[in-house]
Amino acid sequence: MQNLQMVDLKRQYQKIKSEVDTAILNVVESTAFINGPDVNHFATELAAYLGVKHVIPCANGTDALQIALMALGLKPGDEVITASYTYIATVEVVALLRLTPVFVDVDADSFTMNIDAVRKAITPKTKAIIPVHLYGQSANMEPLLALAKEHNIPVIEDNAQAIGGTYTFPDGKTVKTGSMGIIGCTSFFPSKNLGGYGDGGAMFTNDDELAQQLKMIANHGQNKKYYHEMVGCNSRLDTIQAAVLRIKLRHLDEYCNARRKAADYYDAAFANNPKIVTPFRAPYAHHVFHQYTLQLKNVDRDMVNQKLAEKSIPSMIYYPVPCHKQNMLKEYGTASNHLPVTDMLQDCVISLPMHTELTEEELSYITKNILEIIG
Ligand SMILES: *Cc1c(COP(=O)(O)O)cnc(C)c1O
Repeated sequence: MQNLQMVDLKRQYQKIKSEVDTAILNVVESTAFINGPDVNHFATELAAYLGVKHVIPCANGTDALQIALMALGLKPGDEVITASYTYIATVEVVALLRLTPVFVDVDADSFTMNIDAVRKAITPKTKAIIPVHLYGQSANMEPLLALAKEHNIPVIEDNAQAIGGTYTFPDGKTVKTGSMGIIGCTSFFPSKNLGGYGDGGAMFTNDDELAQQLKMIANHGQNKKYYHEMVGCNSRLDTIQAAVLRIKLRHLDEYCNARRKAADYYDAAFANNPKIVTPFRAPYAHHVFHQYTLQLKNVDRDMVNQKLAEKSIPSMIYYPVPCHKQNMLKEYGTASNHLPVTDMLQDCVISLPMHTELTEEELSYITKNILEIIG
């Protein structure tokens, strides 16, 4: 089997090539490279899709998280509760702003924040909670939001991996991930579920005042040109990216369905194998499978990785080192944090090719080989 990839963006592009090429060319011909009309149009269309009042585009998902924290006006030393089991960006921005990351463990089935652990981690210094909708599945938001409300702590959703996913509240109300916290953040990195052809990101909120604040911070702290109210940053979504994203947004639900279909195939192939735990599908979430991640039980993962590579099947470990053990955070002494589930998962997870263009032939080849290797 030729050319299997974790993410195949080329085949996806070929299907929308004429639309995308025209859109990019239009931007080039207009020369409105910065803050061109596509940026606002995209923000409006994404807000409608997500069911939020405001979408504020920015340069990448890491900036989105940083600007969100800045907009809350936190002070150095304030504590931010988040998961260690996430991409480093979630935590890096906390440390960058001289806030203190406080890690909580995740649930072994969902890979998302354990609510009891959050409850225990709350102190008078806790000034924000950042749940991560890891691998495309919403964290269990209802109990988390209730807990946060009880303590008056704002919740920022890291929705970089779950755009297009939903969460269903116990009363049956279903909403898009990223629309539940006071601010939702996402990334348009090319391999994300809604990916541009370069970097990009956005923040979402229903709060008019916060929206204004986020916009101002992303624009050098100014509301009025050359009048700077506060220290901000320079974080914009390029017009070319916005033009591409407008097209891809129209396909987002179809892309999420294609990922779910591939996940269904994997699930069926691996069902009832005692050495493989397939991804948990929480009853409250519509999982959009940014990653398809297995837990291997009593299997030499390095051996599996290597044998898959010999068959030209890519696989990845997301993430080989949890955040609390990263040298970056040494000064916080986080390596001694007791996060047994995070540690256990990091030692047994493996992610398989997952994208919108996987064919049955490819899925069959991948699953057959994995079952053979694992035995
Ligand atoms: C990708 C990602 C980010 C950062 O997004 P960038 O656009 O790469 O800066 C943040 N959090 C999570 C969970 C991510 O997967």
